[in-house]
Amino acid sequence: MSDATFTRESIRHEPAARELRVVRTERLTSTITRITLGGEALAGFAAHGPEDHVKLVFPAPPGQRILRDYTPAVFDEAAQELSLDFVVHGDEGPATRFAAGARPGDPLVVAGPRGSRLPPREARRYVLIADEASLPAMSRWIAAVRGRAEVVAFVQSESSDVLDYPLPRGDGIQVTRIPTGADAALAAVEEVAIDEHTYVWAAGEATGLIPLRRALRRQRGLAKDRAKVDGYWRRGVAGMDHHAPLDPEDPED
Ligand SMILES: Cc1cc2nc3c(=O)[nH]c(=O)nc-3n(C[C@H](O)[C@H](O)[C@H](O)COP(=O)(O)OP(=O)(O)OC[C@H]3O[C@@H](n4cnc5c(N)ncnc54)[C@H](O)[C@@H]3O)c2cc1C
Repeated sequence: MSDATFTRESIRHEPAARELRVVRTERLTSTITRITLGGEALAGFAAHGPEDHVKLVFPAPPGQRILRDYTPAVFDEAAQELSLDFVVHGDEGPATRFAAGARPGDPLVVAGPRGSRLPPREARRYVLIADEASLPAMSRWIAAVRGRAEVVAFVQSESSDVLDYPLPRGDGIQVTRIPTGADAALAAVEEVAIDEHTYVWAAGEATGLIPLRRALRRQRGLAKDRAKVDGYWRRGVAGMDHHAPLDPEDPED
């Protein structure tokens, strides 16, 4: 494997909290609902990186903050509309509760994104692994690199209609649904060739991704600049902090 480092350019954005209103809602798959927000406050909104995320700010008692991370699935600058895609996984979390009950006119405060990290310029091949929560980010990855790199994408889901989700498609883009869980992710990636031109990105349920991260780092020998594994939520934990180390045994990033 070549030693040349992959570099990812970072762009900072002015901090902003925007008061928006629901314009419409749309069911994309049996488990994912798109909520389109609008408002003049979207002037100046920018999201250039595949993993960009906004923080949804929910009403909280004094002294507390209730924030949840979501990916800008679609930003239509001309229409001043921002669409977020929510996994409706139950009704115990404030974000899911909001999404399940959202009606046109409902208010929502959206903060960020604070910054964007662009895909590594050097990569010619991307191996992407997402679950339903990280599907909007996978979509952004494919849109960002299509035409200049090959994409091998695995979507972890038990929903037979998950690939109805509008991922960019075309030549050089291969998308496969696989079961959820650590074993399925490991098995899928084991079959994939990873060479010096390959970048691997995986995101989803944090605990289930630990074995994949260990396999990529220890067995496949991928350094930090070649692979990113990000926990987007953790089973049994409300409002998980995704900046906390994914793997406490190896808290490198
Ligand atoms: C950078 C980033 C981008 C993200 N982008 C998106 C996105 O675009 N769309 C999206 O749907 N999610 C996205 N997520 C994940 C989302 O922030 C979490 O799923 C969040 O916990 C949802 O908040 P909640 O209020 O619904 O549930 P919480 O109050 O956080 O949790 C309540 C319970 O629900 C469980 N839970 C949380 N999420 C899920 C899930 N997806 N499936 C099953 N059970 C769950 C928790 O384990 C907990 O037991 C992103 C996360 C990060 C870090």
